[in-house]
Amino acid sequence: MTPIIPAQAPANDLFDSFALHPTILKAVRDIGYVRPTAIQMDAIPPALEGRDILACAATGSGKTAAFLLPILNGLIGKRRGTTRALVVAPTRELAAQILDDLKGFAKYTSVTSAVIYGGVGMGEQERALRSGVDVIIATPGRLLDHMQNSYAKLNGIEYLVLDEADRMLDMGFLPDIKRILKVIPRERQTFFLSATIPAPIAELSKNLLQSPVKINVARQAAPAGTIKQALYPIQQELKSALLHALLDRGIMKDVLVFTRTKHRTNRLAEYLTKAGFKTARLHGNRSMRQRMDALEGFKDGTYRVLVATDIAARGIDVEALGHVINFDVPVTPEDYIHRVGRTGRAELSGEAFTFVSPDEEAGVRAIEKTIGRKLQREMLSDFDYSKRPNARLEIPIGERLAAMRAQKARGRSNQNLSQSRNQNRTPGRGSANQGRARANGNRR
Ligand code: AMP
Repeated sequence: MTPIIPAQAPANDLFDSFALHPTILKAVRDIGYVRPTAIQMDAIPPALEGRDILACAATGSGKTAAFLLPILNGLIGKRRGTTRALVVAPTRELAAQILDDLKGFAKYTSVTSAVIYGGVGMGEQERALRSGVDVIIATPGRLLDHMQNSYAKLNGIEYLVLDEADRMLDMGFLPDIKRILKVIPRERQTFFLSATIPAPIAELSKNLLQSPVKINVARQAAPAGTIKQALYPIQQELKSALLHALLDRGIMKDVLVFTRTKHRTNRLAEYLTKAGFKTARLHGNRSMRQRMDALEGFKDGTYRVLVATDIAARGIDVEALGHVINFDVPVTPEDYIHRVGRTGRAELSGEAFTFVSPDEEAGVRAIEKTIGRKLQREMLSDFDYSKRPNARLEIPIGERLAAMRAQKARGRSNQNLSQSRNQNRTPGRGSANQGRARANGNRR
């Protein structure tokens, strides 16, 4: 992957100024990082002194290195054979990405690591736990599955990271996290990262951290200033055609498109593929293999478009991604910030467009309130906004329920009809039929 050099860091702030082990600094140089991002500047020095960290960090800020580098530094050259660092993350993609980053930073060290998430076999993960790899990066559900067994020992943990804590809350992982925390020693260094700090997260962080260094906490996370954001007002049924037109214009080289549901992701991906665009899709019903293929294919340019649901928004790490399109207005402003954060990573510039149908205006107002400014509205020139819509991507739930009810009612009335026909038949015939039915039933 191409390294990025953040544009806005002062020239004298270089990684070499941190008290990091030379092998780590060498690996960081190999990866191509020259200047630390803002969160790395703020977090790495106190973390190296052993302080707990509470960071309100938007994705794309460079938060992963901000916790991995000091942890790695603490692990180098010490006793091994038991797991000493645990990173908990909400999605498999994010966990896999963190592992990738760690392997890069640790390449000149003997620090070992493994990732633990669902959707794949348990065997290899069990072996990693038994062997006591230094760092485990895990999603909560699968980690708890392993914790049913005595081989999963977390009593040697010295470093704990909760990454994207607000997302874990949204995904209902809070009880799981609390169960995991029960077995982790209180004497440890904790890194707590969250894009936003809603009340339950603030409370959890208070219980977990000891006099933490607070980074950016006062500020509500907002997409990086380098990202150009715009709204495209459009009728719901014309959204696919608008996307098609934008792709046709060739303005966008690669684009990550977010839809509201898995169903819409599938239908939109089919539509784009039929229209001749190389398209992959990513959502929670896809197997781990399919998700990885989609991501890898998008990263290496096999696919120009990746259509995804929100779950997939976390942990997608595609450097220098130019465009994000919100095909549907995100349900919460936090989702908007996360989706848009997929572009403009590490302070690069990017464009994020949001398609807004009239019934989604309230969602836009909530987003504008959260990010503290009005988003610019644009129209695509030469696009026929009055043209006949495409086939609908999705039948609204109300209509689907009505159709199901109508089908059931038809079934019931057919049943009534055949019952009343049977009753009108002569008793002799009826009992003969029943006798035949019984005989058939016995044969089955
Ligand atoms: P993160 O917020 O940790 O997901 O990082 C976002 C992206 O920025 C990743 O692709 C990192 O590889 C990249 N990155 C992180 N820190 C730096 C840095 N100091 N210089 C250049 N790129 C970086």
